[in-house]
Amino acid sequence: MRPVDENYEVIVVGGGFAGVAAARELGRKGVRVLLIDKNPYHQFQPLLYQVATVQLGVSEVARSLRDIFRGQPNVRVLLAEVTGVDPAAKRVTTSDGRTYEGRFLVLASGAEANFFNTPGAEEGTYPLYSVEDAVGLGGSFSNILEEADRVDDSSELHFVVIGGGPTGVETAGAMAETVKYVLPDYFSQRLASRCRVHLVDMVPNVLPPFSDKSKEYARRRLSGMGVQLHLGVPVKEITPDTVVLNDGTAIPADLVVWAGGLKAGPVVARSGLPQGRGGRIDVNEDLTAPGVEGVYVLGDAANMTDDKGNKLPQLGSCALQAGGWAAKNILADIEGRPREPFHYSDKGYMAMVGRGAAVAEVGPGPDRKVLAGPLAFLAWLGVHVFLLSGSLQKVRALATWPSDYISHRRSFVVLSRPDKPRA
Ligand SMILES: Cc1cc2nc3c(=O)[nH]c(=O)nc-3n(C[C@H](O)[C@H](O)[C@H](O)COP(=O)(O)OP(=O)(O)OC[C@H]3O[C@@H](n4cnc5c(N)ncnc54)[C@H](O)[C@@H]3O)c2cc1C
Repeated sequence: MRPVDENYEVIVVGGGFAGVAAARELGRKGVRVLLIDKNPYHQFQPLLYQVATVQLGVSEVARSLRDIFRGQPNVRVLLAEVTGVDPAAKRVTTSDGRTYEGRFLVLASGAEANFFNTPGAEEGTYPLYSVEDAVGLGGSFSNILEEADRVDDSSELHFVVIGGGPTGVETAGAMAETVKYVLPDYFSQRLASRCRVHLVDMVPNVLPPFSDKSKEYARRRLSGMGVQLHLGVPVKEITPDTVVLNDGTAIPADLVVWAGGLKAGPVVARSGLPQGRGGRIDVNEDLTAPGVEGVYVLGDAANMTDDKGNKLPQLGSCALQAGGWAAKNILADIEGRPREPFHYSDKGYMAMVGRGAAVAEVGPGPDRKVLAGPLAFLAWLGVHVFLLSGSLQKVRALATWPSDYISHRRSFVVLSRPDKPRA
């Protein structure tokens, strides 16, 4: 099929942090961009765990891509799923068979759960990467609670989170808080006392990339909130009602969250570009794909390094900055100037452990300042409000988060697509 429109200079696949930043910058400079996403929205992953624990609704973590680009006539948003990529031709094919070509191609299609071939994991757990995942998980979580409320016996309910990185810690912490603060209010103390939250990881501590101080703080805080930690033993398999560890421990499980790892999504695999760690593309330091002209791979789809050769983590801030940087390099390509290696402005990283409690390792490289507790919580708040796309969401978040956290007030939201509990 012929390309629908051949006048695009740049095709961007993915409207996440990286794709939006690239398209915005290019559009502002008068470059004609086609931004393709399979969803009509830009999702904000750092808050997905709050959707998954029924504390936030979808509109607080997703913003319409058309709204983001409303004032940018150079950027056309296209709702379509990319199913084929030809890097040499800078051409993509969408699921309806249409093809789109540009002078440049930007692959910013993010990641998906990596189950590492763990038996039962793909069918029996809920991953947490997208809004869709979070709605499915939140719907299932709330259905299990409603069912338990209806039956009202003394059986225990077990919620198991696999993966002790930031996503797992945040999810387990938020589940424990929902049990402690929300259930007595919205259901009953009796139901709350029947719930158990577990966090499982093969390494002996939580938050592996963080300092010992942060790890210890997170561990103490989670235990204090009643999260049962199962650390240092890998998961062997997931059965319909248990998570079985390598040492034979069988943790009863009514709902299992998979926060055990990520790999690049299928767009990258379909591109035929050589894949490195996590199925991602090892990009050059100017963010171009190796061995092919005019193709950039960004964010969670790439293994990126900074201009000093340091490997960069899969973080929203890296993806956001890479998007802006790739746009500058594309402009350099267009104007015949040399491209520049990606300079990442490292502000550190952080994770929310619970209400008013976070860990933050602030500042660049080895001189990071380690914060834990309410100060880290404020740092988390500041950084994430900055990352949130759209002034309306920023205002809402700013107005409600601090008071909600401090006052222990929490909502129990309605999710539009509740899932069924596992049989
Ligand atoms: C639960 C969770 C919590 C996180 N918390 C933090 C945090 O606190 N701080 C932080 O800095 N980072 C955090 N991250 C990491 C951060 O969200 C990611 O690094 C970042 O979103 C990567 O941006 P991206 O643009 O590469 O990909 P994404 O934001 O994932 O965007 C990819 C886009 O591509 C689209 N897409 C995918 N496949 C196709 C296709 N076939 N066709 C068309 N479109 C497609 C998707 O719909 C999506 O819009 C978190 C991640 C998760 C999962």
